[in-house]
Amino acid sequence: MADYSLVIIGAGLSGLAAGIRFARFGGSVLILEKHAIPGGLNSYYYRKGFLLETGLHAMTNFAGPGDKRAPLNRLFRQLKLSRHDFITHEQYSSLISFPDNATLRFSNDFAMLQEEIFSRFPGEIDGFRRLLAVIDGYNPFAPEPWLSTRAMLGRFLHDPLLTDMLLLPLMVYGNSEEHDMDFAQFVIMFRSIYQEGFFRPEGTMKDFLALLVDQFTAFGGEIRYNSRVEAVAVADQRAKSVKLADGAIISCDAVISTVGAPGTFELLALPRQEDSYAGRMSFVESIYILPHQAKETVKSTHTIIFYCLTDHFQYRRPEQAVDPSWGVICFPENFHGLPPADTFQIRITHAANYDLWKNATPHDYQMMKKEWVAKSREMTAKIIGNYQQNIVYEDSFTPVTIERYTAKARGAVYGSPVKVKDGRTPCSNLFIAGTDQGFLGIVGSMLSGVTIVNQHLLTSEVV
Ligand SMILES: Cc1cc2nc3c(=O)[nH]c(=O)nc-3n(C[C@H](O)[C@H](O)[C@H](O)COP(=O)(O)OP(=O)(O)OC[C@H]3O[C@@H](n4cnc5c(N)ncnc54)[C@H](O)[C@@H]3O)c2cc1C
Repeated sequence: MADYSLVIIGAGLSGLAAGIRFARFGGSVLILEKHAIPGGLNSYYYRKGFLLETGLHAMTNFAGPGDKRAPLNRLFRQLKLSRHDFITHEQYSSLISFPDNATLRFSNDFAMLQEEIFSRFPGEIDGFRRLLAVIDGYNPFAPEPWLSTRAMLGRFLHDPLLTDMLLLPLMVYGNSEEHDMDFAQFVIMFRSIYQEGFFRPEGTMKDFLALLVDQFTAFGGEIRYNSRVEAVAVADQRAKSVKLADGAIISCDAVISTVGAPGTFELLALPRQEDSYAGRMSFVESIYILPHQAKETVKSTHTIIFYCLTDHFQYRRPEQAVDPSWGVICFPENFHGLPPADTFQIRITHAANYDLWKNATPHDYQMMKKEWVAKSREMTAKIIGNYQQNIVYEDSFTPVTIERYTAKARGAVYGSPVKVKDGRTPCSNLFIAGTDQGFLGIVGSMLSGVTIVNQHLLTSEVV
């Protein structure tokens, strides 16, 4: 008999959600995590007494507790977590800002975005309505071939500015491809960001992760930290066991891998297929902490600003180390009903070039950080005013940091451009969950974990 019915590689959000779902029905399940804490891309760390969240700008897919069919509430039911006890804080509003005062505001009420589009782009009203009808009827998880979003939008919208404005938030929060995105991904992101919206949970990411880990262990699941999986042993196209870096071997009936498609192929000793599976989009992010009073000096009361300072939005890996000409400015305190804080945070994200950061000497790396942080502040001050003099603490991370602390090769936060929608691999009992299955973000990756367990493991197919 195998040591465990299921081994899950990775205690990120998809791994934890998959673990809870499986353990809930009594299956023996072990999560193996190479780091000392859970969370993966969305974790936390301490610096100088501040708890800093690595990923969280906002959660997507907002829904009030009463909306039974909403993805967020379905997720909570599947994990047997109380949605009523999970206190959420909705965004104030977010802004898409392009040159010549071209702006669109949106909130968790989709009507706001529609009204903004209708008043600023009156010639696009019919086309936008027809596009919405297509989005409403589209199944992004059907096994359809890749479909160009830019071509699809071009069928309904005539003004390239509106297309660029709509694409910026959806691309920067989840697109692993440059220039264009698969229409299925567009639909997922459109629904989760524009039609459902942004929120923050009460407390920190650390609290949210503790809630998930507690639920998992309460159902009898086991979790081991500092346990890097080095290889998966396969016989007759079935995963038989996993080998840890310390040499331990754990046998199992099935495996879920949340380490992405390239990482999973490596564990299976399959060819990496580097070109098609490696994502090229990575980012730098700076976190600034200011005294609470400094909030008054910032020229924005939005929750998130998606800005582009050039006429055409170019979603691509920049040729220089960082491209501060477009990006995201997030104010994590700007959510309704959050308890008062002593400090005020600003998080700023830009596209970055992994190779330039990776190949820099340690000295050059530090110099590059200084130089690009300064450029980023200069650019973003044009939008929110000068906040520099109020900074009491700052930290920045680069594509190399993302690669070091997660399994994302080349710091590709959104994983592979090739999504494995059904989670299947050449091994009949090993499945991919998480970012590379096609769901994105925190709620998306958790839905992915649950979906893979439901589709492949809670049937008689494997166990
Ligand atoms: C800077 C940044 C900002 C973000 N902002 C947001 C946001 O505001 N809102 C939002 O919804 N999403 C955001 N995201 C995206 C979100 O964090 C991810 O979509 C989600 O966390 C992915 O979860 P996952 O489980 O698929 O993968 P991961 O988080 O990558 O989890 C994989 C886990 O596997 C572990 N692992 C890897 N290799 C091994 C191995 N060999 N053995 C054992 N363990 C291994 C890793 O350590 C990791 O814990 C952000 C991400 C980043 C990086």
